Amino acid sequence: MDSSLLSLKKDPMGTAISDYYHHGKAAKLRVYSSQFDEDEIPVSQLFRTYEEMPPLEQRALQLAKGKILDCGAGSGCHALALQDMDKEVQAIDISPLSVEVMQQRGVKQAFQINLFDKNYLEKFDTILMLMNGSGIIGKLERMPIFFQKMKQLLNPDGCIYMDSSDLRYLFEEEDGSFLIDLAGDYYGEIDFQMQYKQVKGDVFDWLYVDFQTLSHYANENGFTAELIAEGDHYDYLACLKMKLYQ
Ligand code: SAH
Repeated sequence: MDSSLLSLKKDPMGTAISDYYHHGKAAKLRVYSSQFDEDEIPVSQLFRTYEEMPPLEQRALQLAKGKILDCGAGSGCHALALQDMDKEVQAIDISPLSVEVMQQRGVKQAFQINLFDKNYLEKFDTILMLMNGSGIIGKLERMPIFFQKMKQLLNPDGCIYMDSSDLRYLFEEEDGSFLIDLAGDYYGEIDFQMQYKQVKGDVFDWLYVDFQTLSHYANENGFTAELIAEGDHYDYLACLKMKLYQ
C-alpha cells in the first residue's frame, strides 16, 4: 500500500489551493485521465462554504460527532465548517501546501499525514471522506487494506461518512441499457493526473464505487454500509459501521 506524502514539486492541487488562498484567484487546475477527455477542477469550489456545499456534504457535517477525522481535507472547507459548529476535528492530507493553507486558515489540527501510514493510530468517533471520498481507496482490490485501517482508527461505535458516485451513467446507451465490460476492470477504477501551471503530479488511482459494491466489500471486511441519502446524479452518502460481536 502506498503511504507516501507528496513533495512540493509534485503537488499541483496544493499549489492551486495556495495560489487561490494568497491571491484570491488561481489558474486552471487540469485533470488528465486515460479514460476521459481532459477536464478541469474549479479551484474556487475547493473553498466552498457550508452554504455552498452539496446537501450530501451538509448532511455528513451535521451527523458528524465526537472526535472527527477529515480525511483528505484539501483546503479545509469541511474542517472549518465543523469548527464553526464547535465540533472537534483533525484534518489530514498528503499535500504539504494544502496542509499549510489549512493551518493559515485556522484549522486547529491540520497535519500532513497519509491515511494509510501504519504509525497513524489515533481513535475517532467519526471519519469523513468527502468529495468522492472513496477515491482515496484507489482500487477495489485495496478494500481489505482500507477497512483494516478503519478498524484501527475508528472507535467501536464510530461511523465513516463517505460519498461517492456510481459511474454507470457514463456507459449508458441511448435506449437506457448499459454497456459495461464485466470481464474488465471495475468501471469506477479511474486513473488521474493533475497539472497546475508547471507543476505536474504523478498518475494516481481514484475509486468511484456504487453503493451495492461498497456494501459488499464492507460486509466482507467486518463492516455494514447504510445508505444515508442520494444526490441528484448517481451520487450518494453512506455510513459505514463496524459489525460488533463477530
Ligand atoms: N475533501 C476536500 C478535498 C478533496 S480532494 C474537499 O472536499 O474539498 C482529495 C484530497 O485527498 C486531496 O487534497 C489529496 O491530497 C488528499 N489525499 C489523497 N490521498 C490521500 C491519502 N492517502 N491520505 C490523506 N489524504 C489523501
